[in-house]
Amino acid sequence: MTGSGKTEVYIRVVESALSAGKQALILVPEIGLTPQLLTRFQERFSVPIAVLNSSLTEKQRYLAFEDARTGVAPIVIGTRLSAFAPLKAPGVFIIDEEHDASFKQQEGFRYHARDLLILRATLEHCPVVLGTATPSLETLRNMQTGRFHALALPHRAGNSVPPTVQILDVRHKKLQEGLSAQLIAAMREQMDQQGQVLLFLNRRGYAPVLMCFECDWIATCKNCDAKLTIHYQSQQLRCHHCETSLPIDKHCPSCTAKNPKPVGIGTERLEAALQSLFPSKTIVRIDRDTTRKKGALKEQLESIHAGEAHILLGTQMIAKGHHFPNVTLVAILDIDQALFSIDFRSTEKMGQLITQVAGRAGRAERLGHVILQTQHPEHPLLKQLLAEGYANFAATVLTERQMLNLPPFSHQALIRAEANTLERALGFLAFVKQSAIKTAPKTLKILGPTPAPMERRHGKHRAQLLCQAPKRSALQQLLQTLMPSIESQPIAQTVRWSLDVDPIDLY
Ligand code: ZN
Ligand code: ZN
Repeated sequence: MTGSGKTEVYIRVVESALSAGKQALILVPEIGLTPQLLTRFQERFSVPIAVLNSSLTEKQRYLAFEDARTGVAPIVIGTRLSAFAPLKAPGVFIIDEEHDASFKQQEGFRYHARDLLILRATLEHCPVVLGTATPSLETLRNMQTGRFHALALPHRAGNSVPPTVQILDVRHKKLQEGLSAQLIAAMREQMDQQGQVLLFLNRRGYAPVLMCFECDWIATCKNCDAKLTIHYQSQQLRCHHCETSLPIDKHCPSCTAKNPKPVGIGTERLEAALQSLFPSKTIVRIDRDTTRKKGALKEQLESIHAGEAHILLGTQMIAKGHHFPNVTLVAILDIDQALFSIDFRSTEKMGQLITQVAGRAGRAERLGHVILQTQHPEHPLLKQLLAEGYANFAATVLTERQMLNLPPFSHQALIRAEANTLERALGFLAFVKQSAIKTAPKTLKILGPTPAPMERRHGKHRAQLLCQAPKRSALQQLLQTLMPSIESQPIAQTVRWSLDVDPIDLY
């Protein structure tokens, strides 16, 4: 389901719950990123709506939970934490953009709000509606097995025509700050016809690498196995993993050559390039750096909707459910690293992101164009995604997962450990593995321990142990006995460790 058609379905479902005297709970990825959904609900319903998000104070959160528990608020809308909202009379649960990774709590008490709410729906005998144009593979699998039923919305909102998609092969092409000559011409053409242009680049900062061309030195974080990103406006090198920041080196610290050079392109650099290419145009950049200030995002979105902005550029923040009716051209830059990532979920995420970003074009009566710049135009999954759409692409990726016995065809639990030395983290996990082998069901596989893909982060050394089983019950059987037995061991006090069931990020 896409766009406003989807919201209309939610509204009808909520209406019918309310008229039966019950409550509706609606989960959304990030309220600040999708203010339209909340506005639509506020316009359509005159009842109190409890809104829950992470920016509430503890008291505000308590009051919202109370309104949900006592039934004062027949409608509850919020981010992942609302999955815990107590309801007096649960009538329906709705999960908007169910594929979105922000439903997973990655720190502390780890849970997936979607999965939690699906379980709650069973316990509280309440129907649950998942909405998305790009279902997660877990949800597609649940549809295949008949656990979920699919309801399709065949038409795009407002009778608009689906966008035309063009792969732009940029192998052996000279790029101007990441932009090909064809793309620049296409942007000019759309803006001449009063269309807005949206550029998607999922990398913030000025450039991801600062390098010395005399000796190949690269600026890296002293706390993490990571390169430092150049932030030109603030004249800083920043680590996006531990938030360390340093002034930009004027000389190479290794060979003292002058002015190491930025390599690669982030949104800040792209914005500067666009300003010099199109000096008379208004450009709006949306990423975590430009939206830090309270109210900044709202202001930026308003200038886009008012037609003041000609070019909109941003990271995945712009892929999350906004409607930009005047955008007639969407260009997707530099998604190539996702094609060759070691994370088995990266192709699924790439397909969702491209489809979601492409869906921003031509949503009103105007025809939209999508241009995808790539060095790998022959990549079979990319070709299938663009030629046949997300559903067929996802079916192929799902078949691959089945052949490799990966989730959703198996179930995983990841035990992570971090310590002052890698040996200590690995040693603890080796101990966990020894204890697990004693009680593990035969079908269960234990992989590792291995150093984490980013071994050092925030000054700590990190390692992990992966448990995988064809059936969830085998995994639970193991964890129920294993967890208490580890907790009581002195070695568990020597490291920081955590358990993540159904991990979505192996870093
Ligand atoms: Zn760092
Ligand atoms: Zn050097």
